Amino acid sequence: MKILVLNCGSSSLKYQLFDMEDESVLAKGLCERIAIDGAVLKHSPTGKDSFTLETPMKDHNDAISAVISALLDKEHGVISDISEVNAVGHRVVHGGEAFSTSVVINEEVKKAISDCAEIAPLHNPPNLMGIEACEKIMNGTPQVAVFDTAFHQTMPPKAFLYAIPYELYEKYKIRKYGFHGTSHKYVAAQAAKLIGKPIEDLKIITCHLGNGASVCAVSGGKSVDTSMGFTPLEGLVMGTRSGDIDPAVIPFIAAKENKNIKEVEAILNKQSGVLGVSGVSSDFRDIENAEKDGNNRAKLSLELFYYRVAKYVGEYAAAMNGVDAIVFTAGLGENSGAARKIVCGYLTYLGLSVDDSKIGVRGQEIDFATADSKIRALAIPTNEELVIARDTKELLK
Ligand code: ADP
Repeated sequence: MKILVLNCGSSSLKYQLFDMEDESVLAKGLCERIAIDGAVLKHSPTGKDSFTLETPMKDHNDAISAVISALLDKEHGVISDISEVNAVGHRVVHGGEAFSTSVVINEEVKKAISDCAEIAPLHNPPNLMGIEACEKIMNGTPQVAVFDTAFHQTMPPKAFLYAIPYELYEKYKIRKYGFHGTSHKYVAAQAAKLIGKPIEDLKIITCHLGNGASVCAVSGGKSVDTSMGFTPLEGLVMGTRSGDIDPAVIPFIAAKENKNIKEVEAILNKQSGVLGVSGVSSDFRDIENAEKDGNNRAKLSLELFYYRVAKYVGEYAAAMNGVDAIVFTAGLGENSGAARKIVCGYLTYLGLSVDDSKIGVRGQEIDFATADSKIRALAIPTNEELVIARDTKELLK
């Protein structure tokens, strides 16, 4: 069985084609600048030469057509007929309260995804465009939606409710949803395998530290709390997002800077985080380099970032009344031994002791706690695409 996994953004589309017999990736790639001048497709088939093709893509229909042509290409392709693709799995960012698992897409599901666009205006509309483009072009091929929010639907009300008038939750569904669920679910499951215990018996804290970043408390395999909220703005300090702030700061900035609420929200989403504090970049490698060159604000931005991660870990250890393992994943969590060392440095009170010879290992699953450490510390590369492909396969059965 072959499954195409799609992650559609407003101007980009990432894809991977899996052979589910052995879960191998047959090809992967990316369309960029969709609906903008200079659209480009980058296609990497496994075991064959990659290629880059500049071709106009006026919308997601054109992008999907370009991907299909690449998959079928005589020289760089990996299938000979599009009917070999048994199903398409879509990453959908927001499923609201409607979806606690992945689902086969039908008209009702599309309506629910569209209804969530109000609370995920940047993500759900392009996700839906990708779904509709596939319906048109791959007529009759089953499609599955896998939601970033679904894993967190097990959070209890005490974790997901905000202390605002309850009617606002009832009327508008204003509550914590959480994101990166596919990643948190995957790395928690891998952690349990690596530790060699059933996930049902474990309390795990997963730290997804990339450009967007969130922490999740996973008790017995279920998400019981997470740091992102109603939108992906809450929680950790991120590349360009502020994470938690006092909400009273918003009208204060608006008044002082003569801006409206939308403009202040854009500052918190796009000009804050480590970018805002450092003034250097939203990219952690750039900031680490600037810190090495003696840039004080770069140093400060990293201190804020790590301090907040450590505080959330402490919070979730309390929420679960204990923790067996801390897991690091995503760009920074998978690759930066320095990042892991700083966060773990805050956690010795939990009995965590790290093995310096292992902490810097990159891009592979590793338990880098010492043998006598009271809790485990792991780095696990995330693989959201594989989870989407597995869920899609499962639903087709
Ligand atoms: P997203 O998918 O949210 O865009 P990623 O998970 O790809 O983000 O993470 C991107 C971040 O990871 C970037 O800020 C990048 O600098 C950081 N990163 C990647 N590799 C390293 C590394 N070796 N050291 C430090 N930071 C790294």
